[in-house]
Amino acid sequence: MNVREPLSVLKGFGPKSAEKFQKLGIYTLEDLLLYYPFRYEDFKSKSVFELIDGEKAVITGTVVTPANVQYYGFKRNRLGFKLKQGEAVVSVSFFNQPYLADKIELGQEIAVFGKWDSAKQSITGMKVLAQVEDDMQPVYRVAQGISQASLVKVIKAVFDTGVHLELKETLPQVLMDKYRLMTRSQATAAMHFPKDLAEYKQALRRVKFEELFYFQMNLQALKAENKSESNGLAIAYDEQKVQDKIAALPFPLTGAQKRSLDEILADMRSGGHMNRLLQGDVGSGKTVIASLAMYAAYTAGFQSAMMVPTEILAEQHYLSLQELFPDLSIAILTSGMKAAVKRTVLSAIADGSIDMIVGTHALIQDSVVYHKLGLVITDEQHRFGVNQRRLFREKGENPDVLMMTATPIPRTLAITAFGEMDVSIIDELPAGRKPIITRWVKHQQLDSVLNWVKSELAKNAQVYVISPLIEESEALDLKNAVALHQELSEYFAGQATVALMHGRMKNDEKDAIMQDFKDKKSQILVSTTVIEVGVNVPNATIMIIMDADRFGLSQLHQLRGRVGRGSKQSYAILVANPKTDSGKERMKIMTETTDGFVLAEADLKMRGSGEIFGTRQSGIPEFQVADIVEDYNILEEARRVASEIVKEKNWQTDEQWAPIVQNLKEKTDFD
Ligand code: ADP
Ligand code: MG
Repeated sequence: MNVREPLSVLKGFGPKSAEKFQKLGIYTLEDLLLYYPFRYEDFKSKSVFELIDGEKAVITGTVVTPANVQYYGFKRNRLGFKLKQGEAVVSVSFFNQPYLADKIELGQEIAVFGKWDSAKQSITGMKVLAQVEDDMQPVYRVAQGISQASLVKVIKAVFDTGVHLELKETLPQVLMDKYRLMTRSQATAAMHFPKDLAEYKQALRRVKFEELFYFQMNLQALKAENKSESNGLAIAYDEQKVQDKIAALPFPLTGAQKRSLDEILADMRSGGHMNRLLQGDVGSGKTVIASLAMYAAYTAGFQSAMMVPTEILAEQHYLSLQELFPDLSIAILTSGMKAAVKRTVLSAIADGSIDMIVGTHALIQDSVVYHKLGLVITDEQHRFGVNQRRLFREKGENPDVLMMTATPIPRTLAITAFGEMDVSIIDELPAGRKPIITRWVKHQQLDSVLNWVKSELAKNAQVYVISPLIEESEALDLKNAVALHQELSEYFAGQATVALMHGRMKNDEKDAIMQDFKDKKSQILVSTTVIEVGVNVPNATIMIIMDADRFGLSQLHQLRGRVGRGSKQSYAILVANPKTDSGKERMKIMTETTDGFVLAEADLKMRGSGEIFGTRQSGIPEFQVADIVEDYNILEEARRVASEIVKEKNWQTDEQWAPIVQNLKEKTDFD
């Protein structure tokens, strides 16, 4: 027998069964061997003294009263008996399973799986176990027509043939030696039927390492390829001119800005391809750094382009670029432009009379032909899909790429999801910024909040009010926002104009409302979370978030970042009566820190990676067994080994790997 053979080689396995197993993606013996349980039931018997109320557990003991079945109501019945474990006697009830009476004999030792009620000192039984079973029972995902029991039976049958011993090893011996990893066939057997917890942990460790190691090998190989000298543009910018420009800024750059700019310029100068993520909280000064990089490209005779998610942001960046570089010719390109204007701009871009371009998705349309495009920048990179970013990059001769994001990405995630990129971090705010004051209030205190808002409005403040998020229903979201707008309009009648913005509006409608708010035509802006995108209204100093506990930490942080953009003191008011501990915890953390990275780490721990980024669109891979948060140690070690390996010229075969891995100094030990 051989692992590549179909399941039908097993005795008694017919075409009907084969069809059912195919629904689970299982065709061959190997598929089945690698179909790991997604959890285990721990059937180790517990002492009744260690049980907590509501816990499901296995209790063994001696039956000390005969099983007695009581019928009541229509068809309902209860089977009861007493079980003695050591000195303790507990009562056991099974509902509507009268046939179990045959299995329960006086004086017999049995094991019951059930739920413990500590007040009544009793167990509601779910299952009678014939004998005390192995400690850990695998639980598999099953499909219609395949039961747990039948799946276990087939898997056991396959292991009985010994065919798993022929599974090909996928890790080089040198790595297995270094990290004391089980072989693939040992690990596979132990994943299904571990002898004990210790063996299971070792199997898991091996399987996770394998997953994360090959993932990192791919990323690191990609990164190495990017870096190779011949792969990108060497942009020979004018160092002096760039330094002069920096000196002419109305403010000194922060240390973190300088460091990031140096990293970017070094990438641009080198012949390798730049693929860099620039992270920093809103207002940390990313745009200035990106603009300086664009300027550097200009001094080397290259065009550069910056793509942003909305027209209003394009306008904003266009104005600030013009202010920074009054002598350059800068163009804006959006889909809303009049056709004639657009034609003129397009031809100026194509003939090279334009130095810098800022725009929306319009920048990647077929009609746009660049002239010596050296640098492309995307702002709020997570708003663009992978394809859009690729199209942008393909617009030139492999231009350098800089992506900006204000979503703080914990290091844990950055090295996985973005492992093929380099990351620069601006983790320092410009001097003189007043940190936003965050307060958590209950709904009952809303009156006094609104009173305070009145007095702030009298001092010309502007206010954002975020309406509650109803996850299940966009329609309810809208209804909430509309109702809130109505209430606040009445409350502030005669004193302030209250505007409304929500996700059902068209982009140009939203832009117009934002523009009015910026122009102070409205003082209060009620909005659903569509406000999140990086619009800058420095005069807005108050952010009120209704039912704030419905948002995750990262989102709250993003929302809060809409204020605190000017020199005035800003406030974030979280209105929430959280029902859960995690809700309370989130409100508390928000009032304690304004550090986006601290919040992102906390968010990741509380919610897991998938929820933060929406795993699918973010390109964060889903692993079968490994978890990038929980298995951070393994991930980090896998990354370290992989990057050392791809640093060498020749690493294609095991023999070439061996010395690289052996020479690697022991650093993190994971287990
Ligand atoms: P981001 O793009 O990270 O949100 P910006 O680059 O738009 O931040 O900067 C926000 C504001 O801070 C802008 O008005 C900018 O001119 C100003 N700024 C940027 N860097 C500094 C600095 N080092 N010192 C003072 N102000 C700065
Ligand atoms: Mg910005």
